[in-house]
Amino acid sequence: MKLNIKDKFNNLLPSDPLLENSRRQVSEACFSYVKPKQTAKPEILHVSPEMLENLGISEDDAKSEAFLNVFTGNKVLENTNPYAMCYGGHQFGNWAGQLGDGRAINLCEVQHNDKNWALQLKGAGETPYSRTADGLAVLRSSIREYLCSEAMFHLGVSTTRALSLALSGDQVLRDVMYDGNAAYEKGAIVCRTAESFLRFGNYQIFAARQDEANLKILVDYTIKYHFSHLGEPSKETYIAFFREVANRTLNMIIHWQRVGFVHGVMNTDNMSILGLTIDYGPYGWLEGYDYGWTPNTTDRQHKRYRYGNQPNIGLWNLLQLANAIYPLIEEAEPLETILNQYKTDFESESLSMMRSKLGLYIEDENDQKLIQDLEDNLHLTETDMTIFFRNLADFKMEDASKGLKIIHNAFYKPDEVIGNIKKRWEDWFLGYSERLQKETFSDVERKMKMNQVNPKYVLRNYMAQLAIDDADKGDYALIDELFNMLKKPYGEQPEYEKWFAKRPDWARHKVGCSMLSCSS
Ligand code: AMP
Ligand code: MG
Repeated sequence: MKLNIKDKFNNLLPSDPLLENSRRQVSEACFSYVKPKQTAKPEILHVSPEMLENLGISEDDAKSEAFLNVFTGNKVLENTNPYAMCYGGHQFGNWAGQLGDGRAINLCEVQHNDKNWALQLKGAGETPYSRTADGLAVLRSSIREYLCSEAMFHLGVSTTRALSLALSGDQVLRDVMYDGNAAYEKGAIVCRTAESFLRFGNYQIFAARQDEANLKILVDYTIKYHFSHLGEPSKETYIAFFREVANRTLNMIIHWQRVGFVHGVMNTDNMSILGLTIDYGPYGWLEGYDYGWTPNTTDRQHKRYRYGNQPNIGLWNLLQLANAIYPLIEEAEPLETILNQYKTDFESESLSMMRSKLGLYIEDENDQKLIQDLEDNLHLTETDMTIFFRNLADFKMEDASKGLKIIHNAFYKPDEVIGNIKKRWEDWFLGYSERLQKETFSDVERKMKMNQVNPKYVLRNYMAQLAIDDADKGDYALIDELFNMLKKPYGEQPEYEKWFAKRPDWARHKVGCSMLSCSS
């Protein structure tokens, strides 16, 4: 296996001088050197063919002993020096101090086809940042990250990706519902990849420690290698950098809203500086369209990270980043302007995203109202978001009276769609039909375009759980099936029709399906 290794992060940035793997506060450094843990009996369960190609690894190489050993942490590639990054973060709104890569170890960076890929093992053992935990990951959370990150890529949402999913052969103790019922689970390791894994928290930690020298080193590095189009570091460049991070963050969140993805833990340590969806933990997919929904049981009370609040949290997190880089700019106004712009852009981008979901391509002043009414209706009785928007593409402009029938399958409790609820839907379809008359596209053309933004297949919470249950018994076929299906989320793929269905009843309140904890 030949990789074009081009390490930058660990070669160019200040490192922790201490080499021992002990938990500690690490100051004046971006990372600590650390070796992955030896695993008992590693086994590769799945590899992403697309990521192999991106990295220049052949399918044969992926079957080699070397691949197995490197991507489960048992062998360190020649001329590489694995490390864990130091970062801090706000967790659920509170400054949590140093966090860092507690169970992620960066192997190296690879250059291929003019792209930079950082390779990182998640679950490869403890690091100086592991705090009270073990640095390991279990199979269920690894399957969820592996499948979802690749699925998000194919949905057109910017994201970190995954190269491989492996069993470590070790047992890992976890208390899933934090109720004192800890049990052993199979340990696993995902090799995930991204241009960079830098998070808001990497900058915050230096600011919190009033270490402006290293803050500047890290920001300059980030601009030079990941935002080089912005030019040489200067006050103006720092402002432009922040503007671009804000834009990318907004863009990512608008896509989440479009496909119904709820991240679940939007802490600032889980916000990528590149605007990538990162850290797939207790995330979930909307089934019933519900602004108030969060999959994360840890957040059940305040629902800080609920679906409808994600854009606001993006803004809140950007404010924390602005505070962190302020010492380099020493002027609040330009940063405030960017944050205000985020609010304006959020309104307009949401509107145009929703227009595209409805197949509206000209701008009409009443669109906001039409969309608001639709969202209100979607909340009247549990209505499946994915099925609703996908089926809506079959709506015929001239046939408003068939609207309800076309989307009927999206209702979880069709019996409730009577009386006033039914009337509100009928009214809405009348309005929609009238609105469509202003468009120039035919029904057929509109359907084609709508189907490119309204996915037919997403990784429903229960689907991931089915794959996990099978995998626990040693059957990995469903992982492969879902992986392949999710490569074409917008395609019809009639062979996978059974996955274009509402959440089955058994999954409504099942742990792992609608309820997830941070325990992983
Ligand atoms: P998360 O909420 O998963 O983003 O994790 C928050 C922090 O806890 C990060 O610093 C993680 O590295 C750390 N962490 C989470 N799980 C573990 C674990 N099993 N072992 C060590 N550190 C962990
Ligand atoms: Mg994290």
